[in-house]
Amino acid sequence: MAKINSNYRKLPKSYLFSEIAKRTEAFLEKNPKVEILKLGIGNTTEPLAPSVIDGLINGVKKLAKLDSYTGYGDEQGDSRLRQALSDWYKHSLPAGAGKKRGINLLADEIFISDGAKPDAANISSIFSPDSVVAITDPVYPVYLDSNVIAGKKIVYLSADEKNGFIPTLPKQKVDLIFLCFPNNPTGAVATKKQLKEFVDYATGNRAVIIFDAAYSEYIKDKNLPTSIYEIKGAKSCAIELQSFSKSAGFTGVRLGWTVVPKDLIVEGSQPGEINQFWHRRQTTMFNGASNIAQEGGLAILSAEGQKQTRKQVNYYMENAAIIKRGLKDMGLTVFGGENAPYLWVKCPEGLSSWEFFDKLLKKAHVVGTPGSGFGQMGEGYLRLSAFGHRENVRKAMISIKENLNL
Ligand SMILES: *Cc1c(COP(=O)(O)O)cnc(C)c1O
Repeated sequence: MAKINSNYRKLPKSYLFSEIAKRTEAFLEKNPKVEILKLGIGNTTEPLAPSVIDGLINGVKKLAKLDSYTGYGDEQGDSRLRQALSDWYKHSLPAGAGKKRGINLLADEIFISDGAKPDAANISSIFSPDSVVAITDPVYPVYLDSNVIAGKKIVYLSADEKNGFIPTLPKQKVDLIFLCFPNNPTGAVATKKQLKEFVDYATGNRAVIIFDAAYSEYIKDKNLPTSIYEIKGAKSCAIELQSFSKSAGFTGVRLGWTVVPKDLIVEGSQPGEINQFWHRRQTTMFNGASNIAQEGGLAILSAEGQKQTRKQVNYYMENAAIIKRGLKDMGLTVFGGENAPYLWVKCPEGLSSWEFFDKLLKKAHVVGTPGSGFGQMGEGYLRLSAFGHRENVRKAMISIKENLNL
């Protein structure tokens, strides 16, 4: 007799975005003439850079000719793209920095994926089923839900105003630690010193850090780390998830990568074995990212591609600055938005996340994302996103100023 995986019943109810849509539609039904201004979504809005479009077109054109057609590629990705990423880690200049990244990774430590979200959800499968998993609260829900589905024991690390939204180390022994900096939803970025504490904890406890760096290109402060591998010792205790989604507008094209260093070891594993396990997992359960998307990825990593995609990131970060300045001028307390495309707004007047959401919707016609949707510790906050057209952002700020009357 077949039985369901009853762990699915343990999942926190995922009503966040459907509830937002429901409340927005109900308001629009009563006020059909109102223009709704969305500042809630974590989705890119600006068209792809011209050189990236050229790369994608080149990918399509190759498929049109007998001598350049390709079918299935290597499951771990096009070797040119893996080498280009290895070079990017070593030689590229992060936006705010005066010096190169200087990170040494071999091409076969880099696995091309169709995005960071699936890898974030699948990575735990190469570790023991009885691993204890540390998850931050608030959190990007994928880390939590995928580990609940797998029946893992979860330990929460609170991120609040007191610790500057950088969670403190687990008090007990944990096996896997999911971290994301720059953070979605809080916009917080850990310093090198703070990450070093996690690396030291992981080294001491033979734990593994799963580091989601999807927003690394939004870091402008040259002292902040853009990769976990900027921290000494991280190669033996950390896996990094990365993506072209937010840095180059590939949310719909789909392309990312995961770094599993050969130095990575856990209790009872041989050097290189975890890298081999992920290789085995991917060759078994994944058939590789789209060859067209990978041509696009190569174009993103070209000098021109880097210049053009950086301009897009700057565009979103100007949005973030406009929102942050506007809200602060009104006396609101706002975190994030300086090295991340998210702003974490403290709800005024002791309002709950949903109460502030409703007030913003009904009075200013602006849609945010209630912080409580990202975990208990998100209660009392609202996430605003810098993704959006400038005109829409400006309109939203004017409307908030004129109509919110705090
Ligand atoms: C958007 C986002 C990603 C990117 O996911 P893809 O599957 O690559 O589109 C990864 N991590 C976080 C925290 C995100 O917000």
